[in-house]
Amino acid sequence: MKLNICHLYPDLLDLYGDRGNILVLAARCRWRGIEPIIQKASLGDDLDFMGMDILFLGGGSDREQALLVQDLMRREKELRSAIENGLVVLAICGGYQMLGRYYQMASGEKIQGLGIIDIWTIAGAKRLIGNVVVEIDERTLVGFENHLGKTYLGEGVMPLGKVLFGHGNNGDDREEGVRYRNVFGTYLHGPLLPKNPHFADLLLELAILRRGADTRLKELDDRLEELAHEVMVKRLLKQVRN
Ligand code: GLN
Repeated sequence: MKLNICHLYPDLLDLYGDRGNILVLAARCRWRGIEPIIQKASLGDDLDFMGMDILFLGGGSDREQALLVQDLMRREKELRSAIENGLVVLAICGGYQMLGRYYQMASGEKIQGLGIIDIWTIAGAKRLIGNVVVEIDERTLVGFENHLGKTYLGEGVMPLGKVLFGHGNNGDDREEGVRYRNVFGTYLHGPLLPKNPHFADLLLELAILRRGADTRLKELDDRLEELAHEVMVKRLLKQVRN
């Protein structure tokens, strides 16, 4: 079996080693005999969203978001159809913000978003920086956030998880990220997937399920990754309790 994984705008959206997420997806495929086909695509490139299994968008600065918005907007219809069809999308920080209605920069100027999910982002007065622990489906995600934007979810829009440590979407409502169909938006860099192998497998399972194939993934030896994950969770949550 082959999985088509697209890293969109790797030259513009790749903060704090976001590319590591692609490496993890590819490695976890290979270790199970699944062949990952990695496509890197940027401004002006031809894309077939419907033919993709996983689309990855990393984080970037306001400047980079403004640079790619036009290119992204011309792909809106096709991307929207693929998302409605179950395309698995992982979007981090700047990429996450671009899925929403707009990002209002500190200058007051708005960068238009795809509007695929009813969320919007407004630059706050101070950066939300640091390690994060999020609870999702009785498990935890660990990561690192650094954003000025405060993201708000429209009515009925589901967050990805609950913030146990850190700021999350806006530092006010204890919510982190967004989940819409098979789209996962989050502020967690780090990169996210090496620190959270169970989350990487969720993305792979959803992508395989969309293909109509058997989704049971072969177990991998994640003891080291899980240990690293647990160390971070314990270290951070201890600070909450103290
Ligand atoms: N420009 C956005 C912000 O600061 C995104 C930053 C990022 O992707 N780390 O909110």
